[in-house]
Amino acid sequence: MEQQGFVFWMTGLSGAGKTTIALAMIEKLQARGVKIERLDGDVVRESLTRDLGFTAEDRAKNIERVTFVAKLLSRNGIGCVCSFISPYQSVRDGVRANTTNFIEVFVDAPLEVVIDRDVKGLYVKAIAGEIPNFTGISDPFEAPQNPDLHIRTDLETVDESAERAIRYLEERGLIPLVIPT
Ligand code: ADP
Repeated sequence: MEQQGFVFWMTGLSGAGKTTIALAMIEKLQARGVKIERLDGDVVRESLTRDLGFTAEDRAKNIERVTFVAKLLSRNGIGCVCSFISPYQSVRDGVRANTTNFIEVFVDAPLEVVIDRDVKGLYVKAIAGEIPNFTGISDPFEAPQNPDLHIRTDLETVDESAERAIRYLEERGLIPLVIPT
């Protein structure tokens, strides 16, 4: 069985674990020979969409451009592992409508947990009022009501989450099963 193109779309608050899980997944998938590309919010905002800010309009444009890339890759048999806060359901629905084998993944940890982690030191600034339009503090996050996969990073380890993600891709028939030897 050949792998299929797909868009594994991780949405969630800053610090919820999207990038960390993406990196763990990529390592496991590449070791299995799955063709994969990673699209990450922090990376594209320094390149493809560096002219955009964080208003609702700019967030929509950011995801629109990323969707274009994910569409080209996914329709040509490449798996895209995507990490984007993407706080609006309508925008995420737009990605689903325009890509092949879209999977909405809610990478979820309670706000108190991500504030406590404060991986990038941004929550302390957002709470002090220094960052406008900061998701979860001064901007809304519309949690997926019916995600294809729900990952609670406060309750499971990175490895457990990455393994669960890969099992999901296998069950959907998007990547070949590994036959135990
Ligand atoms: P995001 O990409 O969602 O902004 P990051 O992946 O950059 O988040 O940061 C998540 C932080 O949470 C990292 O420091 C990571 O080590 C930590 N973490 C703790 N448990 C988990 C888990 N189960 N899954 C992912 N990250 C976790």
